[in-house]
Amino acid sequence: MRILVIEDEQKLTEYLRQGLTESGYTVDMAFNGIDGKHLSIEGDYDLVLLDVMLPGIDGYGVLNALRKVKTVPVLMLTARDKVEDRVRGLQEGADDYLIKPFAFSELLARVQALLRRGVSSTAGQSTVMQLGDLEIDLLKRKAFRSNNRLDLSAKEFALLALLMQRQGAILSRTLIAEQVWDMNFDSDTNVVEVAVRRLRAKIDEPYAVKLLHTVRGMGYVLELRP
Ligand code: CA
Repeated sequence: MRILVIEDEQKLTEYLRQGLTESGYTVDMAFNGIDGKHLSIEGDYDLVLLDVMLPGIDGYGVLNALRKVKTVPVLMLTARDKVEDRVRGLQEGADDYLIKPFAFSELLARVQALLRRGVSSTAGQSTVMQLGDLEIDLLKRKAFRSNNRLDLSAKEFALLALLMQRQGAILSRTLIAEQVWDMNFDSDTNVVEVAVRRLRAKIDEPYAVKLLHTVRGMGYVLELRP
């Protein structure tokens, strides 16, 4: 079982790493929200421990980005015992929360309960999405067109997942760059265009019916057109 710990307090990360390793888990660490977001999305973890107050992107930002593509169980660590913080975390797709300071035994009990439960219950219902003969499974991170498995890179999958979740809506390059690459769009870079071209070559070009459309001057839209 692999656990990702996203936490910036050095003493606490060391304490968690040691305790979880001794309990038999494989532990990876991220010390800020940016690394945490990338690792949690790109990596293959059974559980994520996520601090709320983080440098870079806060825990809610990480959770929000993660929940767009994955349903891995998330246990939030919050320093603040405020009802609204807990409600917000749970609303945004966290599975449980723990208020600092906590005893390791309590953390371990929560971790074990979440791992037993497996897939996140809050996000587990909408893992498969379809548009015509295009189908994507957010949980298994697989995509199919006409039942053919599409070989997509992590970024291509994230881009497709975003388009699928917002199907029918025109997504600007800026929005795509922010959501998929977590960067402020720099007009000199054509990273979005390149990724869209690659994605289109895989999901559309071999097929008669095109799903990914360019809306000149505005962006891209994924939809079934009559
Ligand atoms: Ca913190």
